[in-house]
Amino acid sequence: MLVSKTDYILYRECPKNTWMKVHQPDIYYAEELSSFEKHIIETGNEVEAEARKIFDDGILIEGRGEEAQKMTEKLLAEKKATLFQPVFIKDGFMAAVDILKYDADTDSYRIYEIKASNEADKNRHYYDLAFQVNLLRRCGLNVAVASIMHLNPEYVRSGALDLNELFKSDDITAEINALQEEVAAEMEQAKAYLAAEAEPAGPCCCIYKGRSNHCTTFSHSNGHVPKYGVHDITRIGLSKKKLKALIDSEVFHLHEVPDDFELSDAQRNQVDAYKMDTVLMHKGQIGEELEKLAYPLYFIDYETFPSAIPLFDGFSPYQQIPFQFSLYTQDAPGGELKHSEFLYEQQADPSGAFAAAMQEMIGPKGSVIVWSKKFECTINKQIAERVPEAKAFLDDVNARVYDLMDAFSKQHYVHKDFKGSTSIKKVLPVMAPELSYKELAIREGGAAASSWIKLVGTALTPPEKEKLKEDMLAYCKMDTWAMVRILQELEKVIK
Ligand code: SF4
Repeated sequence: MLVSKTDYILYRECPKNTWMKVHQPDIYYAEELSSFEKHIIETGNEVEAEARKIFDDGILIEGRGEEAQKMTEKLLAEKKATLFQPVFIKDGFMAAVDILKYDADTDSYRIYEIKASNEADKNRHYYDLAFQVNLLRRCGLNVAVASIMHLNPEYVRSGALDLNELFKSDDITAEINALQEEVAAEMEQAKAYLAAEAEPAGPCCCIYKGRSNHCTTFSHSNGHVPKYGVHDITRIGLSKKKLKALIDSEVFHLHEVPDDFELSDAQRNQVDAYKMDTVLMHKGQIGEELEKLAYPLYFIDYETFPSAIPLFDGFSPYQQIPFQFSLYTQDAPGGELKHSEFLYEQQADPSGAFAAAMQEMIGPKGSVIVWSKKFECTINKQIAERVPEAKAFLDDVNARVYDLMDAFSKQHYVHKDFKGSTSIKKVLPVMAPELSYKELAIREGGAAASSWIKLVGTALTPPEKEKLKEDMLAYCKMDTWAMVRILQELEKVIK
């Protein structure tokens, strides 16, 4: 058995989870990766490929096994200047290095770890690099410099990509050297722990953490914990004392939470709605919310793509590219609902066309209804920076934005099936059960975002693009129709 650098980093986060990965992969990998997780992997590969372009003398070593190791040894013996993904295996440890550069003057090496993030993470990235340095030194290499190369959030593209500006290289040799003793000891501990045939005994410490922290094997190790229970109370992961008190009292189900147990309003409402199997409604406050709306109503939803590598002028790493919106317009109470939409289909900055389409479809008066306004308002501000002629219009839209989520986040309407969430994906099935994202080919924002790159790329045939376009339009339309239906249901409540 070999302990890879990925295993080591996972081990540092949770030994037991890593043991499951190594010994019970069927349980560890039981859940398919989400489109968000797949996107993170694709982004990592894309950023690494871009970083390699800085080194024009690099040789890529394919694979991870013995052959790759032998090829690495051969190229090292030939003193090749730069290697991409050289593979090192020694003493039961294995790593493929992102970039290894040989310095003939000092007969030493510089190692680079590429990260698709805007900064280096001292906990994860430093230990990742320290593992590699340890292994390379075990293999007899003189590693003189250790660097993390990550994206530069200050970079704003102007013309051709400037790779030397897009990437920042942090020389952290001193920090990595200082970690060597600790990392060497941990590597041995990880090797011994992961070599054990029997599943590690003892409790799973995530029992004291909120659901979002649980790994895929939590249910396997904690069969007594219900699928929906105290770990799912909203923001309970941030209220460590509360969760600990519940767990230590062996309270796992929501119906067991004592009525006098101290919780925030949102937490108490979630628990009470579940225990009483009822809807908590404050008609007066819902009415006050809806009085803020002015006709005509514009229900709008954006789709954007956060490209790690800035694709167009004026964009920084991970800045959102707004490429699509859907809009329902209603001129008067009970009036007809008109639908319009925008989808940019060229591989260019959509900002100007996006703002122009909005200006054409949104009049000078009335409320602009969104779900979670921070997102749309931020996008509007960023578009205004790139399209100054649309600034006055976009500022005015932001001043007229009404966040329909407020009725729910302010706790005026709480249903047990929201499960403590105010996401439209949780609220819609309760408020308008006839609507469902399940029937759609695209069901969530992450998939919609990455669809645009496929739509404007060259890999799809025209019929495939046409189908993808239909799916993208259907998803965005559903997000706006969902807001229409939720507002209609709130209006029924106050009648
Ligand atoms: S649920 Fe938490 S403690 Fe348990 S195996 Fe997973 S990561 Fe480790």
